Amino acid sequence: MAIKQFKTESKRLLDLMANSIYTNTDIFLRELISNASDALDKRYFLSLTDTNIKSEDLKIKIYADKKEKTITIIDNGIGMSKEDLENNLGTIAKSGSFEFKENLDEKEKVDIIGQFGVGFYSAFMVADKIEVLSKKINEDKAYLWTGTLDGYEVKQAKKDDFGTTIILYIKDNSKEKKYDQYLNIDNLEMLVKKYSDFIRYPIIMNIESYGENGAKETKETTVNSMVPIWKKPKKELKDEDYQMFYSTNYYDFEKPLSTLHYKVEGNTSYSALLFIPSVRPLNYFSNDYKLDLKLYSKGVFIKDEAKELISDYFRFVRGVVDSDDLSLNISREILQENHQMAALKKSIDKKIKSTLVKMLENNREDYEKFFEQFGQQLKFGAYDHYGANKDELVDLLIFKSSYEDKYVTLKEYVSRMKEDQKEIYFASGPSIKAIKELPELETVLDKGYEILYFTDSVDEFMANVLHDYDGKIFKSLQQGNLDFDTKEEKEKIEKKAKDNEDLINKIKEELKDKVNDVRLTNRLKSSAVCLVSDDGLSFNMEKTLNAINQGAVKANKILEINPNHELFKALNSVYKKGNDIKDYSILLYEQAQLIAGLPLEDPIAYSKRVADLMLKAMS
Ligand code: ADP
Repeated sequence: MAIKQFKTESKRLLDLMANSIYTNTDIFLRELISNASDALDKRYFLSLTDTNIKSEDLKIKIYADKKEKTITIIDNGIGMSKEDLENNLGTIAKSGSFEFKENLDEKEKVDIIGQFGVGFYSAFMVADKIEVLSKKINEDKAYLWTGTLDGYEVKQAKKDDFGTTIILYIKDNSKEKKYDQYLNIDNLEMLVKKYSDFIRYPIIMNIESYGENGAKETKETTVNSMVPIWKKPKKELKDEDYQMFYSTNYYDFEKPLSTLHYKVEGNTSYSALLFIPSVRPLNYFSNDYKLDLKLYSKGVFIKDEAKELISDYFRFVRGVVDSDDLSLNISREILQENHQMAALKKSIDKKIKSTLVKMLENNREDYEKFFEQFGQQLKFGAYDHYGANKDELVDLLIFKSSYEDKYVTLKEYVSRMKEDQKEIYFASGPSIKAIKELPELETVLDKGYEILYFTDSVDEFMANVLHDYDGKIFKSLQQGNLDFDTKEEKEKIEKKAKDNEDLINKIKEELKDKVNDVRLTNRLKSSAVCLVSDDGLSFNMEKTLNAINQGAVKANKILEINPNHELFKALNSVYKKGNDIKDYSILLYEQAQLIAGLPLEDPIAYSKRVADLMLKAMS
């Protein structure tokens, strides 16, 4: 009997697969087990209506023979007829037209392999010959399909029971790949556990162990755990079961803040078991933190780190998602552009968000605990991509505020804004204590305005991107001009500025290399000076950016002077007597720098100036 050729496209795809060294060859086993499991499903389904068909003892067996260099995978599922073998195993690219270009690079190969339902054919990554012996249920003849890269043939064969036996003749080791790893039973067992642990049917292997008398014995053992916890009904599960699963899978022994076990039916059906941890992993904000979200399809492991399933700003979530209907034509390898994945992501994001919203509303204590750990992530999410996701996240943000030194939401802040208040005030610093000591907050607090304390370096960036909440613009108390002076206050300060124009110009002159402007302010009460920046880039933002970019940006510095302070009055009289005020001007600037938490440019010159002053005062 003549060997039949694979269709041209299938042949090219096969060649690609057999030769692409970067493809993950481990997955062949998962593909074959998944096919076997589908075949068992089909048999089980038929048995529901046909009492002649038995459905007890459905199982999958896997053997490896090191001498013969074969792996055998046996199922007692529905089996395949001669036509099934011809039709199902004769072509790969069922979707048909695909134009192959010449000279694909390795990445393109992997992408192409990924685009097809390579399933059964992935076995050619590790085997150069495959035999499929099958007997379809309720038929009396069995057939043997034998395939190599050159083609395949189907002939009648002998087989007693229904189902399919697949024998892979494993390739010889090459320079790039040790194929004999697949003949090692421990390694195979590991792959089954990794990829197929939750297949509903027992996967049986001959596992070696040591008996009571110490002698080695080989026993048929079921190696998969079959029913995953997330597939079990909720009412059968106790808190301890979830806790056990969580701690053994994520090595986190703190109880998660939230455990979400749910099922969605409809267009995108899936079950999920998700956890919101109560403690941030140590490496969370470093590059080696990896999302721990696994994707399964009907109990078959598809991938780790399933970034496609959840928005980056929720990457603290751990768990598993098991989809009932990920399209099987689409490779299990590459799913990014799959609209089913997009629908899953939308649904999962929504679930996480609503869980957090509920926690914020009903269990503030837990939410604050959560926010202490992962709040920065949400703030960063609101800022990232120029604020593309800010509307999703803004109501999940909380900040410590001057109101009661407690966390407040923006909604709460806005709801108790004073009648004449137009903006949302914030101040930023390394700690709440440091912020509270800022002289520029004194008057604002006296006037009874609430201030948000920004202590994370992302906060100001985020406020810039958020721009406003409910139409109320975010306004730094350390930047630009403030707009809460009364008309009288405004006129008074303008008059003072005019009266002292010469002095201010003189100070400006003395500090021209150091600051962009010098002006009088109503912002201060007990302090003589403060340093503010223009709207836009703040000193803290400058610090953060320079830590990443090394000295690329500079915030505009403005020295503000309190005209009601004794020091200003004294300076004025010294100036009027015609004395030099250079050192005094610089000292005022240096004080302002210290208050703002900025480093002095020349600490030695500073201490000399102070020492001279002390000597003058003491003599
Ligand atoms: P897919 O599983 O994505 O359909 P495959 O190339 O893996 O693609 O398999 C092609 C078809 O061959 C399957 O749809 C199924 O009908 C049939 N098949 C494969 N393995 C088995 C098996 N062990 N028992 C019965 N049918 C099988």
